[in-house]
Amino acid sequence: MLKVDNLSVNYGAIKAVRGVSFSVNSGEIVTLIGANGAGKSTILRTISGLEKVADGIISFEHQILNRMPSERRVRSGIVHVPEGRRVFPGMSVQENLQLGAFTISGKSQNNAAYEAVYEHFPILKDRRNQDAATLSGGEQQMLAIGRALMAKPKIILLDEPSMGLAPLYIQKIFDIIQNIRDTGVTVLVIEQNANQALKIADRGYVIEGGKITATGTGEELLASADVRQAYLGG
Ligand code: ATP
Repeated sequence: MLKVDNLSVNYGAIKAVRGVSFSVNSGEIVTLIGANGAGKSTILRTISGLEKVADGIISFEHQILNRMPSERRVRSGIVHVPEGRRVFPGMSVQENLQLGAFTISGKSQNNAAYEAVYEHFPILKDRRNQDAATLSGGEQQMLAIGRALMAKPKIILLDEPSMGLAPLYIQKIFDIIQNIRDTGVTVLVIEQNANQALKIADRGYVIEGGKITATGTGEELLASADVRQAYLGG
């Protein structure tokens, strides 16, 4: 479904991503794990069109994305939830969700999208008229994911969804990621919380210094001595 082939991305002289290749099949949860600064966010940002490809090819459903504008990528089914759960303060929960729906037309489709989001996140329904800024951190993360779902993605790109959340919410977010996949949305998730991410992932890739250094099923990577040593506290 999504194929990243020999991708390199630079920030001026900084080579952030160096010849990375991986794929995501329809219906999978795939995770990219690795330390701070390894290049994970840059890979997601490049897939959604926020950074330029220096070398390599990104394709989605056999269409090359390299020069496609971000907005067209969203329309073709790729939706990105950036790090830091950015919600719009001063707007209600429902208004925040509506902003995610710019790719869908018609009232009935719109209502169906709300219902689907509220099914994943009943708390957002309860709070739909509340200012988004008054939500807790975990609820804001749910809103950011819910907003992405409003665009009816085929694949959702999640950048550190568990970052900064209380333990109770971390578990919830990982459960929700599985639920989202179970409704037919493919998931590419980057995480520093490697243990939890690998537990729910079909497959994973370890990124170090802009390169892939290991790959396998979630189970294989959880069991790997090197991965345990570097990312799972031994
Ligand atoms: P994090 O979890 O901290 O986001 P990451 O694995 O996602 O880490 P990236 O954010 O992709 O890593 O960063 C990869 C490298 O590129 C790092 O060395 C980082 O300092 C650098 N970098 C990231 N964004 C920029 C930028 N806008 N300008 C210059 N260098 C950048």
